Amino acid sequence: MFQKIESFVGGEATPAVEGGFGEKLDPRTGSKLEEVAYSSAADVGKAIDNAAEAFELWRDVRPSERGRALVELGRLIRANGERLGEIESRETGKPGHEMPALIDLTAQFFEFYGGVVNVMDGDIINQGPDYHVYTRRDPFGVIGVILPWNAPLHQAARAIAPALAVGNTVLAKRSEHTPGSLVELARLAVQAGLPAGAFNVIVGKGSVIGPAMVEHPKIQKISFTGSVRAGQELGRIAADRILPLTLELGGKSANIVFDDSDLDAAAKGSVRAFTWNSGQWCCAGTRLLVQENIHDEFVQRLVKEVKALRVGPEHDATSGPITTAAQFKKIQEYFDVAEKEGLSCAVGGKVASGGHLGSGWYIEPTVYTGATNDGTMAREEIFGPVVIVIPFKDEADAVRLANDSEFGLAAGIWSRDIGRVHRVAARLEAGRIVVNEYGGGFVQTPCGGFKNSGYGREQGIDALSHYTQLKSIIIRL
Ligand code: NAD
Repeated sequence: MFQKIESFVGGEATPAVEGGFGEKLDPRTGSKLEEVAYSSAADVGKAIDNAAEAFELWRDVRPSERGRALVELGRLIRANGERLGEIESRETGKPGHEMPALIDLTAQFFEFYGGVVNVMDGDIINQGPDYHVYTRRDPFGVIGVILPWNAPLHQAARAIAPALAVGNTVLAKRSEHTPGSLVELARLAVQAGLPAGAFNVIVGKGSVIGPAMVEHPKIQKISFTGSVRAGQELGRIAADRILPLTLELGGKSANIVFDDSDLDAAAKGSVRAFTWNSGQWCCAGTRLLVQENIHDEFVQRLVKEVKALRVGPEHDATSGPITTAAQFKKIQEYFDVAEKEGLSCAVGGKVASGGHLGSGWYIEPTVYTGATNDGTMAREEIFGPVVIVIPFKDEADAVRLANDSEFGLAAGIWSRDIGRVHRVAARLEAGRIVVNEYGGGFVQTPCGGFKNSGYGREQGIDALSHYTQLKSIIIRL
């Protein structure tokens, strides 16, 4: 008997009115793991009605009380962390040892926005003694949150927490490959004191649920995280409704290593940049730009670091499997592209196999050299543990290569020269620049893209302005 994952609407588990169930496969074995409801547009309509009704109540709850409920949700996430972590690890294949940090991050989003909402307000604009002029920030209403499969809990929290904090209600849709933990999060929200219907989850296929959400007149804003392709499709429908979107899309982020950097730290950090979460990371540093005079030595260091990684199903593995069968296949197709384009494979370049890996979807972390920045491997997002190393001459050349991409999500800089760090950071066309490490930033730091990586920002205080509408009130005294 397999577990059935169903929508959570109006404060309770809600079976789909039509649509049946689809099979969700286990990335560690390739066999059936659970059954996922394939909800229909009619289910979306019902869920949105619930969210719209809850909005009438939630919008008028005092900010301090809304904040208290969100902080309580943060506490419940920590208290239920082990169970939430098990669900996420089971559905995604993430190594178990990574889950406590991700649960902590998820809780932090609710704690941060639960606190910040107490100090978020409009402004008084002085227009002399004859006027009283002020601004206020009003919630939109029902926010649709559409999410991919690579980071189920904290990615959901970073959109849902600020949306709820300022008085919106939410209908969230996670990829059909990893819906389980989001349903649990919505259940905990009710326990935390949010009104039933404030935080709803619809389970189903993106191609059905996504358009139904964007077309629905009661949805007032969409926060979408996913591929450029799906973002464009949603954008076309949204244009007809003048529906505001936050788009968090893909990346092919440059990670720049200068010859004056700490090469040990840079090699370790650059490997993490493209192998964390088996490379299924929007900000992954997958175009590694290395100053030409240290190129060969640096590649040797990379290969050594990669060979020390342990890919597998174990709790303490450094990398787990690829989460979906389609993505597993897509990465292998890029190995063929690399061969056709004449790249040299320094390490990896194939499916990881061996006794303990069975028929799981494992890929060997892979380093390619001999690439130019205009080849397919350097231009397209692969979304797997594959890095392309490209040499550069000097600072100007590094900036030119880094910016020569249709994407602009993140970038890394490794250098001990602080002047250079600031100069390069100022010129890079990317929404997040990390220096002398390659990590995911903080709950408090905005995240979002330049160019085709999207627009709008999640995380940080700035995200609140994307979940509210600014209104001016001008009173003649
Ligand atoms: P995807 O675009 O296929 O799916 C994302 C979500 O959209 C899923 O819930 C999916 O069911 C839904 N969807 C799919 N087709 C749709 C359509 N036509 N209309 C509406 N919704 C639709 O992306 P994915 O393969 O699940 O995720 C990988 C992509 O997400 C990568 O490109 C990655 O870079 C990106 N991503 C971006 C960020 C970020 O913060 N910028 C974070 C994580 C992942």
